[in-house]
Amino acid sequence: MSIETGAAPSALVDQTEASCFYHPQKQAVRVCDGCGRMICSLCSIELGAEHLCPNCIAAGRKKGKLTTLEDRRVRYDSIALSLGIFSFLFYVLAIVLAPAALYISIRHWNSPGSLLGRSRGRFVVAIILASCALLIWIAMVSVLVWHSPHRK
Ligand SMILES: [Zn+2]
Ligand SMILES: [Zn+2]
Repeated sequence: MSIETGAAPSALVDQTEASCFYHPQKQAVRVCDGCGRMICSLCSIELGAEHLCPNCIAAGRKKGKLTTLEDRRVRYDSIALSLGIFSFLFYVLAIVLAPAALYISIRHWNSPGSLLGRSRGRFVVAIILASCALLIWIAMVSVLVWHSPHRK
């Protein structure tokens, strides 16, 4: 008898649901404190009380914005390692993240942080990961260029 018209269509949820900036397929769980982009749990890097996306980590290091890192005793080797790992997770960003990981590893190789008795194992792993990511990136581009359709 009664026609139910009160219920709003739920199909739009898929359209409006916030997805990760870096992973359109994944649902965002938070907003990056650096750039405000929606990021998924995988992209969220905890830095003290902040949660930053990998791009902001890389950009922050370049601009020297994250100078408070020293005060918070954030481990550069962990950041370098994270960037190295992210280089693998995001091939598109590897071209930015991998050099950043290499830069941080080399820059802080002899930093006072290493006096805390921390081994350089993470730096080594970060450098290896970043190097591999870069090589893979270069290899992928080479393959794409090589196998691009030619009109003959
Ligand atoms: Zn960000
Ligand atoms: Zn993501």
